Amino acid sequence: MTRLLLIGMPGAGKGTQAERLSEAFGIPAISTGDIFRHNVKNETELGKQAKAFMDRGEYVPDSLTNALVRDRLSHADAAEGFLLDGYPRTADQVVELDDILSSHSQKLDAVVMLTADVDEVVRRLLNRAIEQGRADDTEEVIRRRLEVYEEQTAPLVSVYAARDLVVTVDGLGEVAEVTARIVDALAERGIAKN
Ligand code: AMP
Repeated sequence: MTRLLLIGMPGAGKGTQAERLSEAFGIPAISTGDIFRHNVKNETELGKQAKAFMDRGEYVPDSLTNALVRDRLSHADAAEGFLLDGYPRTADQVVELDDILSSHSQKLDAVVMLTADVDEVVRRLLNRAIEQGRADDTEEVIRRRLEVYEEQTAPLVSVYAARDLVVTVDGLGEVAEVTARIVDALAERGIAKN
């Protein structure tokens, strides 16, 4: 029953690590970005509302994002633990998540902060643009996403640090190496994989 958050700049490798950690800990990886992209692709009402924000590198409004996460965390598979990738990203979302967890009598075990340097993440994101063709991976939008991250999401780390939940891990290096660093750092805090 492990409950983790993964925070880091766009391009820090959250998605890749989330999948690997999901497997290692036997918990679902829940990525709000993936859920939004899925909705955009299927042209759902939520997708239509989210798309304009995503395409500009802005955050989708808290009201939409919070409702989505509240619903997703009420699914049976999340009862035994989860890893949230890319949520919360705003102060309002932190409050919402606290409320969701307390209504389920649950608590977070750790917040993994994946660090990376800006030049490296821009390089990775531009590369991903070529490989995956994401609409929000153009240089201009990438710059905006990084700005929004600094303004709205970076300050959340100190909120969780005050609760002694933050585990900071260097996100640079081989994928498997970074996973091992995260697993080791969590183990040091007594959070073991299954
Ligand atoms: P990601 O794949 O996590 O980089 O998310 C891609 C985009 O989806 C972001 O740039 C936002 O537009 C939107 N998004 C994902 N998660 C959130 C969130 N927690 N709050 C607001 N917008 C989000």
